[in-house]
Amino acid sequence: MKYSPKNHTPLVLVADDDHFIRVLVKDALESEGFRVSEVADGRDVLSTFSRIKPDIIILDVVMPGQDGFRLCREIRATEAGQTVPIVMMTGLDDIDSVRKAYAAGATDFITKPLNIPLIGYRIQYIFRSSRTLEKLKQSETRLVDAQKIANLGSWEMDLDSGDVYWSQEVYAIFGMEPGNGAISHDVFMNAVHPEEKDAVAALLEKAFSAEDNFNIECRILAQNGRSRTILTKARITRDESNKATWAVGFIQDITERKEVEEKIRLLAYYDTLTGLPNRILFHDYFSHAVAFATRTKTQIGILFVDLDRFKLINDTLGHTVGDKVLKDVAKRLDAGIRKYDYIARERVADIDAEVARFAGDEFIVLLKNVRDHFDAAKVAQRIQDSLTMPYIIDGTEIIITPSIGISLYPVDGEKLEDLIKYADIAMYHAKELGRNNFQFYSRSLDTTAKDHLILEGQLRNAIRRDELFVCYQPIIKVPSFKISGIEAVVRWRHPERGILSAASFVPMAEETGLITEIDEWVLFTVCKQIKVWQDRADQSWMVTVNVSGRNFKKRTLVETVGRALHSSGIDPRWLKLEITEGVLIDKDGYVVSALNSIKEMGIRLALDDFGTGYSSLGYLRKFPLDILKIDKSFVKDLLVDPDCVSITTAIIALARSLKLDIIAEGVETKEQMELLLETGCEKQQGNYFSPPLSLNDLEEFVRNGTIRISDRSNDESQGFSGLAVPVTS
Ligand code: C2E
Ligand code: MG
Ligand code: MG
Repeated sequence: MKYSPKNHTPLVLVADDDHFIRVLVKDALESEGFRVSEVADGRDVLSTFSRIKPDIIILDVVMPGQDGFRLCREIRATEAGQTVPIVMMTGLDDIDSVRKAYAAGATDFITKPLNIPLIGYRIQYIFRSSRTLEKLKQSETRLVDAQKIANLGSWEMDLDSGDVYWSQEVYAIFGMEPGNGAISHDVFMNAVHPEEKDAVAALLEKAFSAEDNFNIECRILAQNGRSRTILTKARITRDESNKATWAVGFIQDITERKEVEEKIRLLAYYDTLTGLPNRILFHDYFSHAVAFATRTKTQIGILFVDLDRFKLINDTLGHTVGDKVLKDVAKRLDAGIRKYDYIARERVADIDAEVARFAGDEFIVLLKNVRDHFDAAKVAQRIQDSLTMPYIIDGTEIIITPSIGISLYPVDGEKLEDLIKYADIAMYHAKELGRNNFQFYSRSLDTTAKDHLILEGQLRNAIRRDELFVCYQPIIKVPSFKISGIEAVVRWRHPERGILSAASFVPMAEETGLITEIDEWVLFTVCKQIKVWQDRADQSWMVTVNVSGRNFKKRTLVETVGRALHSSGIDPRWLKLEITEGVLIDKDGYVVSALNSIKEMGIRLALDDFGTGYSSLGYLRKFPLDILKIDKSFVKDLLVDPDCVSITTAIIALARSLKLDIIAEGVETKEQMELLLETGCEKQQGNYFSPPLSLNDLEEFVRNGTIRISDRSNDESQGFSGLAVPVTS
């Protein structure tokens, strides 16, 4: 029963069959300020007790109809009766009754005959001490509750005997049942995490031998198998000879606090997506690395790693897939640099590396203990190899290549910002050199990077200033050497740099998004030209226009093509669109529906650069394609690399089985032409027949059946081999 602190007069229940005694006791108690209720019949005691809930009971041992001891036990068995003071009245010399009374749960006893003047004081005393006990229990309960809430337990230790006392919560922290097993210093030490045992033992030893208190934070393995972090603080008492005799302290389970602290630390210093360090932490690494480099007279390598065409993955497959790719890349980077020193030990003794996510698809790697360019190059090569292995994301195989720029401390710069900037410039250079390679920074690249920015600005105005024009490369049917079609490629007549090929500005236009505007302009220009040829009715060729994947992202292509057809009024069967493989990654079915709409307009579709990207048989079946173009990289090595022959043969067989037309591009020699023809590819395109030509040159090519090199002294195409061109059969 809970004692109510309210100001009420305590109520005593007096149970005795002797009327005279009840009157005497009542008088005595009332004069001491108690209220009194009486029960004469033993059978009524329990019910009266439940009804009036007295603060104390005086119970006669012998009553008619009831045994006092049994009654006492029955009261104790009720919830309200657990703590109420029960005073039993026994005979003066009845030691046996006294013993039985205590055994039945009585609080105290008084003897008959009663010493009436004293009885008031006696009851008063019993009542007060029971109240004190009750309060103590309550405050203990509160303490236990408070300790539980704070995950805090208290302990004491006798340093002589080694005896230990633990509060309940300490048992909970250690995953033990209270009172289960003897508690000793060893129980604590056994629980301490193996990695921290020695350190904790040393701290305790030091504290007990010379200090007044200690403060230890460590991990423990609780008996329920959970790992916890605890904080224990204690005060040590010493005797006159300064020997530690007693320690009192507390233990707190601070696991959650530590976890929160760790989360905050992770948020502040680590990238949430990949778990890699962020820029802030990277700065920290750099400062340490500089100290190390100065001490050891070594260099620091900063590698700027950028994923080629990553935007395409985000745009076509969605950000969820993009994120998964980034996570995989981060894992590979991290694993790659960690394994590094074991694998390349013979050359790079102990290169220490850290990797951080810089932004989006950009990562930075810091290499410590670098002796020369070769050390850094080895790591860069390793990163490149590991990142280019295929990624399987949600069942789709994705190929990604990195472009890596490298700068070195202290030769290129001393501040991290500068080194990152230089590595970034070198990375751009790597991109310009065709991506998927690594390049070192050199001063001359500075101007190249500036150039890039300037060019980008100029391209924005190129359409408006009428600086773009279209060149036409004939597609030849062998062995008849008849023109079977024409591919339109864009050129830029740059005011200072002369004529620039598509290869030198289309990637930049794709990055900036300008390509959609350019593509629209090319499409309208080509359609107008087709119309001119149609109207003259002397020649009509199927003309191909390249369209970037960016057009699908913007979802405007179908509408643009419709407008171009409408405004030019051409017969759509003379138009063909060329898309690259990246376009075929179709997240939500938009691409396939857009391509179907274009096909329905009567336009044919070709897949460019086949074999270099993401194509799978599944894609080829799903999309309404008419033509496959074998990429020039296979054609180039046809005569030297047997693999290229097998790939080309396989592509041709594949195209046949899917009933697709096939064109080989980049044909530069007679031998290539012949080999391709043997393999079954009749339609061919390349400098061997003709490079892309201006409109005038194309018309001359058609008129004369041939064109001589001297006629194209300011040739705008690249890589023209200058061979005689057989065009008539
Ligand atoms: P592509 O569609 O595969 O075009 C073929 C490229 O190979 C052209 O480069 C062409 O000049 C070049 N080429 C032709 N014959 C030979 C040869 O025998 N040997 C070698 N080594 N190269 C040859 P170009 O014009 O610089 O275009 C590069 C790429 O830019 C094109 O590759 C195409 O993907 C893209 N492109 C060109 N024009 C446009 C355009 O109007 N819009 C879009 N979105 N992309 C375009
Ligand atoms: Mg093309
Ligand atoms: Mg191509």
